[in-house]
Amino acid sequence: MSNSLHSNPLATENQKTTQESVVTARPSRRPLDYQQISLFKDVNPLDWEDWHWQLKNRVSKLEQVSQIIKLTPEEEQGIRNAKGRMAMTVTPYWIALADPDDPTCPMRRQCIPTAQEFKVSPHEMVDPCGEDNNSPAPHLVHRYPDRILLLATESCAMYCRHCTRRRLVGHVQESENYSNKWDAALEYLRSNKKIRDVLISGGDPLLLEDGVLDELLKKVRSIPHIEFLRIGTRIPVTLPQRITDNLIAILKKYAPLWISIHFNHPKEITKRTKSACGLLADAGFPLGSQTVLLSGINDRPYIMRRLMHELLKIRVRPYYIYQCDLVRGTQHFRTPVSVGINIIEKLRGHTSGYAVPVYVIDAPGGGGKIPIGPNYILSQAKGKYVIRNYKNKVYAYLE
Ligand SMILES: *Cc1c(COP(=O)(O)O)cnc(C)c1O
Repeated sequence: MSNSLHSNPLATENQKTTQESVVTARPSRRPLDYQQISLFKDVNPLDWEDWHWQLKNRVSKLEQVSQIIKLTPEEEQGIRNAKGRMAMTVTPYWIALADPDDPTCPMRRQCIPTAQEFKVSPHEMVDPCGEDNNSPAPHLVHRYPDRILLLATESCAMYCRHCTRRRLVGHVQESENYSNKWDAALEYLRSNKKIRDVLISGGDPLLLEDGVLDELLKKVRSIPHIEFLRIGTRIPVTLPQRITDNLIAILKKYAPLWISIHFNHPKEITKRTKSACGLLADAGFPLGSQTVLLSGINDRPYIMRRLMHELLKIRVRPYYIYQCDLVRGTQHFRTPVSVGINIIEKLRGHTSGYAVPVYVIDAPGGGGKIPIGPNYILSQAKGKYVIRNYKNKVYAYLE
């Protein structure tokens, strides 16, 4: 009985995906020290450590990236096509971690557009999670009764090629005015007493200047019915230099503050990212991870397991694995749902419970995050549950 659960019709699909993504199993080159990259060889280490320098010197031109990476024709075309919002934008820190010779390198695929991004596939949407329809005020998405998403900025340190908010996110005017940008959103939060949890995301809120972020957090925190804040960010991974002592001092004023960090691959957990997460954890912020399941990047159970183990070592608790949303131009990143279910099957029971995130589909059209996973209930009738464990052994639980 338990075996039949495993020999399900999805198994062949799993195998297929595993074969397709076998390239990630190739031992990838050790990341270069940035000073070995000719474009950066004269950069002063103090500049390299300065987050404003990193931002100012982001790689966004074909001529620059081609000096660092041996581009494929598909990448060259992708870089030329990606204009305006979601134009290629990569921190020097991140691009230095990409393999110059391997187009399947996970760091490289997440930052360099390819021609595939400009194909729209069936079922793909501009706003796959129906966020714009759940927006009671500018920059807010209110989907659940007691918590709300505040999209504080449209900028990120790097534009991930699988971005689900590509309709909103991308380069903004340098002169963006923050003095009253969130007024209507804050008014909505003040007047809605059911909201006890505000998730500040974007874009990447940690890209805001210290003073601007301080003001925003102060205003949100001053609302009496808001019990705690969360920040959704990728900065510790894409621009760890941003995690400065001053930033920590600001964030500490607004505890309890939980931080969810977007991590997709073990290669992202460098010494530099470890130390940034160490500063945040030492300052007392609970850290969680959010991972997007990406074809050829993290769709094999052993890579996902390694990622989850590395996260626990840097005190980040795996929170969610997302099925890649049906956003336009991301077909090449998407896996079958069975791949995600199989990853959870290979984690739960086989390793620390803390290393097992929840796999979710953010329902198309705006249904929110729906947990998806292996089925452990084999049958249920008259006070008797027949259940199976991670080894497929069958047990009964009598109520
Ligand atoms: C993900 C999300 C949240 C937070 O959901 P949790 O499951 O509580 O982490 C809140 N609002 C929106 C619109 C979201 O997409």
